[in-house]
Amino acid sequence: MNMIPIAKPQLEEAEIEAVNNVLRSGIIAEGPRVAEFEQEFADYTGTEYAVAVNSGTAALHAALLAHGIGKGDEVITSSFSFIATANSILFTGAKPVFADIRADTFNLAPQLIEEKITASTKAIMPVHLYGHPADMEAMRDIAEDNDLILIEDACQAHGAIYNGKKVGSFGTGAFSFYPTKNMTTSEGGIITTNSKEIADRARMIRAHGSRQRYLHEMLGYNLRMTDISAAIGMVQLKRLPSYIKARQRNAKLLTDKLQGIEGIECPAVRNGCQHVFHQYTIRTRNRDQLSDYLKEKGIGSGIYYPIPIHKQPYYKELGYKDNLLVTEKASREVLSLPVHPAVTENDINTITNAIKLWSDEKC
Ligand SMILES: *Cc1c(COP(=O)(O)O)cnc(C)c1O
Repeated sequence: MNMIPIAKPQLEEAEIEAVNNVLRSGIIAEGPRVAEFEQEFADYTGTEYAVAVNSGTAALHAALLAHGIGKGDEVITSSFSFIATANSILFTGAKPVFADIRADTFNLAPQLIEEKITASTKAIMPVHLYGHPADMEAMRDIAEDNDLILIEDACQAHGAIYNGKKVGSFGTGAFSFYPTKNMTTSEGGIITTNSKEIADRARMIRAHGSRQRYLHEMLGYNLRMTDISAAIGMVQLKRLPSYIKARQRNAKLLTDKLQGIEGIECPAVRNGCQHVFHQYTIRTRNRDQLSDYLKEKGIGSGIYYPIPIHKQPYYKELGYKDNLLVTEKASREVLSLPVHPAVTENDINTITNAIKLWSDEKC
């Protein structure tokens, strides 16, 4: 039986040719294509600068370091995210502080951030989860009023728009190009910023703290992207608008068919927001049962994320004891359905008919 997969990177002849050209050029590590890709991604996102690195995790880590965040600092973020969000804060020696989320978009609730601000708070790091923008106007106000740095985990939200502006352009942005994301470079990531100082520092952090060869002004790492990845990224970036359209079309078809089915809650899109549907995520009380049922019918689904970060063994060991009720409920109820560009209208009928049958059998 052919499975409808939950994710499928779209790789075509153009990517293969782009990689071949890099290999033939002989410049296979960081070279001119990385610089070109950075300019194109900055233009797309509407920022002055972009600094390409070798993962989304590296982008978050370098963004925090570029802002001077470290030991003794607190960064407020979401526990309902991929572990890299909070781990990148730990890497710097700073402490992740978790605020609860909104029930509708699964993104940080602005009014709950304010309660968590202390004298040690240096930054807030909203996550644009599933491709739905966080409340950026409120986030920006909180950051300005409390003199805090704003770092956006935009790893799932390439091209998402909040009130006419792309995410990653409100604060310092961090994107991932992992194969399951809305565009890929194989492994890869990028930092976006309007600050020349932050871009320069991120470039140094990427290359062992040097801007002049063998002169090391600060502690840095090897976070470099290769020209092979950048070449794939440039092809994918050209197609990103059509990928987003396909995801939005699929999301609309899914919602049209799922709306009104007993026990299923469809994803919300807030006013002024362009959701890019990295994931199409429903809520249901019997989530694990539905996931098993769909698997039997050859339909892939995903749970992002079954254990909130503050409940992970390592974080419990660190002493985290938060009660984040909305986060914990979401982690029990969410189920993501296939929405990627390779999903056809026929696939959507298969998926939604199966969910309808499941719901009818239960009632
Ligand atoms: C994918 C992802 C990351 C990490 O990106 P990698 O490229 O896998 O390192 C960070 N945060 C979120 C929300 C992500 O989805």
